[in-house]
Amino acid sequence: MNPPDAEARALARTFIEQTLAAEGNALMLEHATREEVVRGLVAARHPARADAAALPDGVAALPGAGASPGPAVTERMIAEAADLGALAALVASCSRCTLHESRKKPVFGEGAADARVVCVGEAPGAREDETGRPFVGRAGGLLDRLLLSIGLPRKSVYICNVLKSRPPRNRDPLPEEVAACSPYLLRQLALIEPEVIIAFGAFAARTLLETKSALGRLRGAVHRYSGYPVVVTYHPAALLRNPGWIRPTWEDLQLVRRMLDGAGEGEVRLG
Ligand code: SF4
Repeated sequence: MNPPDAEARALARTFIEQTLAAEGNALMLEHATREEVVRGLVAARHPARADAAALPDGVAALPGAGASPGPAVTERMIAEAADLGALAALVASCSRCTLHESRKKPVFGEGAADARVVCVGEAPGAREDETGRPFVGRAGGLLDRLLLSIGLPRKSVYICNVLKSRPPRNRDPLPEEVAACSPYLLRQLALIEPEVIIAFGAFAARTLLETKSALGRLRGAVHRYSGYPVVVTYHPAALLRNPGWIRPTWEDLQLVRRMLDGAGEGEVRLG
């Protein structure tokens, strides 16, 4: 490790340790590249630049972003989309539910097409609606740092939401909207074939797992969605409001780390 690498890692470690200082966590940054550490630092110190700092290489505006709705997108068209680009183009012209009427930009998702981990949130918020990108702003910056703490740079994972269009005023998604949009998520997962899904927040967890259980009861175990292992944790936006939840979130991510490192699900099950 050359001096600039050491300095950048030390600064990143200091930032995250300060974030979790109350809980006294020791974080693992050994797997992070220097580039990701610098991105994390920029996001931490200059939130206004977080979007640009976190932008994965080669990720530009999605094809067809902002396009007018075209002919109805059928489930068969979604299921037969050959790759993520073709699927994103369908989302860009989607009018399967009424959310296309009020959205500014669809938020398809972004990240590595061969990601081992897919992060799933609820639905785009205001910043996501404006930028067309998932998990941006302060919550996105915190997500980046949490992932980095288990050796997962943002560009190594895939990040998306259950819904691809923003519900007005961030209201809860309606069941019919979830039903209309879920085929896109299923196809994303089928194309990526992740080893682990992380459901961020109660809505994403309850939707994927088709349960009304409280998030606290779903944490600490490995669930299944369409055959894929699912780990449930708090949404980064909730962590900004409740810093006391950062430690349990970090513990949930440790579960993901152990799964990626080859521990069987029985071995990693908590509680
Ligand atoms: S939320 Fe999903 S189903 Fe509804 S318009 Fe957007 S992309 Fe289409």
